[in-house]
Amino acid sequence: MSTAGFNSQNGTGTGQTYTNGPSQNPVALQQPPGVGYGMNHQPAYNPMQTKVLGPPSPALYASGPYQPVPPGPQLGSYPPPPAQPLLTRPPIGVLPSHTPPQSASPGPGPRQAQATPPAQATPPPPAVTSTSYYTGPPAWQYAAPRGPAPNHVNPAAAAPPHMSHGSAQPPGPGAPPTSIHGYPQPGTAPPPMNPPPPHTYQPNRPAYGPPPTAPPAGPPGATGTPPPPKVDAQSWGAASSARPPTEPDTQEGDVECPGDVAGNGPQAPNSYNHVDNRMAGAAQPGPPGRHLGHYPSLPPGYQNTLAPPPSSLHPALQAATQPYIQGPQPYQQPGGPGPDQLSPSMAAMSLQSGTPEALRVVNLLQERNLLPPAPVPAPTPCLTQDLQKLNCSPEVFRCTLTSIPQTQSLLNKAKLPLGLLLHPFKDLSQLPVVTSSTIVRCRSCRTYINPFVSFLDQRRWKCNLCYRVNDVPEEFMYNPVSRSYGEPHKRPEVQNATIEFIAPSEYMLRPPQPAVYLFVLDVSHNAVETGYLSVFCQSLLDNINALPGDSRTKVGFITFDSTIHFYNLQEGLSQPQMLIVSDIEDIFLPTPDSLLVNLNECKELVQDLLKSLPNLFEKTMETQSALGSALQAAFKLLSPTGGRMSVFQTQLPNLGVGALQSREDPNQRASAKDVQHLSPATDFYKKLALDCSGQQVAVDLFLLSAQYCDLASLGCISRFSAGSVYYYPSYHHQHNPAQVERFQRDLKRYLTRKIGFEAVMRIRCTKGLSIHTFHGNFFVRSTDLLSLPNVNPDAGFAVQMSIEENLDDMQVVSFQAALLYTSSKGERRIRVHTMCLPVVSSLSDVFAGADVQAVTGLLACMAVDRSVTSSLSDARDAMTNAAIDSLSSYRQSALTIQQPGLLAPACLRLFPLYILALLKQKAFRTGTSTRLDERVFAMYQLKYQPLAFAMLMIHPALYRLDDLSDEGALNINERTIPQPRVLQLSVEKLSREGAFLMDAGLVMYLWIGRNCHQNFLSQVLGVSSYAAVPEKLCLLPELDTAESQRTRALVSWLRDQRPFFPSLHIIRDESQLKPHFMQNMIEDRTESALSYYEFLLHLQQQISK
Ligand SMILES: [Zn+2]
Repeated sequence: MSTAGFNSQNGTGTGQTYTNGPSQNPVALQQPPGVGYGMNHQPAYNPMQTKVLGPPSPALYASGPYQPVPPGPQLGSYPPPPAQPLLTRPPIGVLPSHTPPQSASPGPGPRQAQATPPAQATPPPPAVTSTSYYTGPPAWQYAAPRGPAPNHVNPAAAAPPHMSHGSAQPPGPGAPPTSIHGYPQPGTAPPPMNPPPPHTYQPNRPAYGPPPTAPPAGPPGATGTPPPPKVDAQSWGAASSARPPTEPDTQEGDVECPGDVAGNGPQAPNSYNHVDNRMAGAAQPGPPGRHLGHYPSLPPGYQNTLAPPPSSLHPALQAATQPYIQGPQPYQQPGGPGPDQLSPSMAAMSLQSGTPEALRVVNLLQERNLLPPAPVPAPTPCLTQDLQKLNCSPEVFRCTLTSIPQTQSLLNKAKLPLGLLLHPFKDLSQLPVVTSSTIVRCRSCRTYINPFVSFLDQRRWKCNLCYRVNDVPEEFMYNPVSRSYGEPHKRPEVQNATIEFIAPSEYMLRPPQPAVYLFVLDVSHNAVETGYLSVFCQSLLDNINALPGDSRTKVGFITFDSTIHFYNLQEGLSQPQMLIVSDIEDIFLPTPDSLLVNLNECKELVQDLLKSLPNLFEKTMETQSALGSALQAAFKLLSPTGGRMSVFQTQLPNLGVGALQSREDPNQRASAKDVQHLSPATDFYKKLALDCSGQQVAVDLFLLSAQYCDLASLGCISRFSAGSVYYYPSYHHQHNPAQVERFQRDLKRYLTRKIGFEAVMRIRCTKGLSIHTFHGNFFVRSTDLLSLPNVNPDAGFAVQMSIEENLDDMQVVSFQAALLYTSSKGERRIRVHTMCLPVVSSLSDVFAGADVQAVTGLLACMAVDRSVTSSLSDARDAMTNAAIDSLSSYRQSALTIQQPGLLAPACLRLFPLYILALLKQKAFRTGTSTRLDERVFAMYQLKYQPLAFAMLMIHPALYRLDDLSDEGALNINERTIPQPRVLQLSVEKLSREGAFLMDAGLVMYLWIGRNCHQNFLSQVLGVSSYAAVPEKLCLLPELDTAESQRTRALVSWLRDQRPFFPSLHIIRDESQLKPHFMQNMIEDRTESALSYYEFLLHLQQQISK
């Protein structure tokens, strides 16, 4: 047995990975409702009368922080408008007002940008708390006793102690007691909704829809204080069950069904855009549903909902009896009705009918061929069909253990981490959208009503998270899908585990923000050399009409090298005006009102700018990069509205605030015992990111560089502001066509994909379970509230959980993720996902429900944190021990018949292979030369990618391509997609006569064997011989042959499965990239790493100790 343990785990969550900064409470920082949000620039940064478009009188400009655009060689190609010359001299007369009051050194004298970087005028924080944001040592003590885990927290980080689910951590200073998705403390009154702005909400407006087909059925709802006969005494709501409802008592209940609106058939991810479009014309204020005024018929998402049953039975009876009318009901639990009624007999389902496949004993040392022929599917939770049919898709919501252990001690025995993996904003082909003036939620814990609640009768429902009994609001009695009355349990909210609400005004703290996009572009010499700027400008020109937004959409541009350049795009100008601020130590905005402009009104100017930008800096010799100042300027520009900042950087920032120095020693890449510098060198980027988060600004970083850029430091700007990081190592417009293509494709997706603004996500779980550590890009605002200034459909999240109270009397537990965001059309929306899982009491059942991919994905996140807070070798040991501990526990406690060998339950048979794959993954490997930035990027990806894509990075898929056939092929849109089987990652599986495709997520390799069949060479690659395969080939030629079509169909189908674009490299034995291909042969031995078989022997040895 190992002793070190993957000191991970489900302990008492000491650590939140990201702590709450002292003053970070975006809600608190927001302006109150009704306050204008678009125009109130801070006067401090408004030194100029921005309405003045003409050339300012020279006399007005003095030596301020401005510099006129030099007509010099590097910028001279930007023609000044004849009548409106670019800024000339800064004014003399009004000098004081040009200096931002905050300026620490409002030196009146002219300051030149080219001056040597002031010696840290903005001093870095005294003690660089390099690991401060990783404070939460994931409490990874397997088998740790419950109770506070050893505190590894870096004292400097001052992380607030972890709070469990029930003990609400006070939000940051100034936070309202109840924020959006308010989570009241037990015993407190239900949170008052944020009072709606008076002009947007008319609670008593009569309903448009058909009136109820029957009068309200009697008195139950009338009193508003249902007697909850069987409410769990311990449930939080018990004390407050008699409170009056907080929601306005409205009779309306419009349901918007976008699929129906748009026609039939599965709706594309933008299905709700149809709704948006319809909304766009409607008056902005007020719940949009009110303008619809009718109940649409069934959208595709509802097609399989049951027809309304004969309503002769009382609905409560129906609910109670339907699934089990035939069967025994041995589960009358002390909890009374509720989940128990819905829950299956786990005991009956799991083991009584013989050993399920998941528990089939596999001797790993003997069974070599463990990979299924097709990608590994997610396990199905052991629930009754009725429940499982309603359950959330595993693509959105996955749990490492699909059977939840009843107690923490049982979980500790299993030695597997408990956690969730989420892809909450995933593009969905079908998404029911509901518009309702009343969103029905538990009055105690604020859970949204969902398919796993139970109805005590027509008028009362019991929360599946806290067990409080709630009233059914009157308007919920009407089912818009079946157009009948008295069927609350048939409402779409109760029939769909994934659903979206258009939120009424109480979900807004301010009017929904417009879509605002600010692009911050590196235009230094290095940047121009890479050639990225023209690709970017062309891509934005091509997609400018596809940017998500509406008539309010705003855009702006900032470029920078050693100075910061702004662009006045005010409507009415004949050309864009460039404004240069050379005082990078004291950055402020010239003409704040004309830098972010309405896209529709100023589109021509924007297009002009995009066309001229690449030439503008063509001959620049400026090598310095004042990225930090550019980010500060961009933050100031976006602060009043919030929005998205897209930053393109090509080198290490080396001037002004946030300047960095190279920390990588290339000679140590392979030989160092442990990898240094995984944590940031400065907290400048994290602090700025938190400021951004507070103002609803997210920063996406595109790093295009051949040299070390210290991604560990720069990346913080995106991680804590809920942005994304894109990395294109060795990007060059001529030398690296594969990267260029990837960049182009990624940009197209990035510019046009859906986006949500000013978002928060709350994850709730059934009482007794507690969420602690979070993984992904966000800022944890309070215990379970993630602040996401932007949310995009490609972002994944993970959380770790522990079991705080025994789940003895529960058959099932539920998890609910609610994402509140502003759509690009300015609607407030809430997307809710609810997952239900069974609770089990035996260790065998826990193992049987293990989801090996989810376990691996979560362990990868934990190992990333561990690498930074402790060390890479520590993280590697912990991963190995995770495999040892769980298999050891299985052998000792779950296996009834002992036998020799290294034994695993079938559901975990891939666990050692995946762990070995992680050890060999770029993020964690040792002994192989790995660039620090590439390693850090791999770590980011592991934490940020949705599980399906992270798994490809960990364990690539290998296919043989030279013998593709149509056997078993998919047929999609009349295209035939071959489905070759997935091969083990071993050189054994290669053959010199073949051609093999390795899909590693972000990159694909097509390896051509030296003696590859002539047929494949000519019919697919269009070459006459092996020697004629070009050295750098990244495209499959479009040949009119069956072989070519099959091959291209497979490759493009694989690419279509993911939101990013993997580049394809066609390689021969002599290719430079061959080592990259070979490094992914995980099962083989390398100089520095064990083969799979050796690794298994190592595990066995440790287990039998
Ligand atoms: Zn509740």
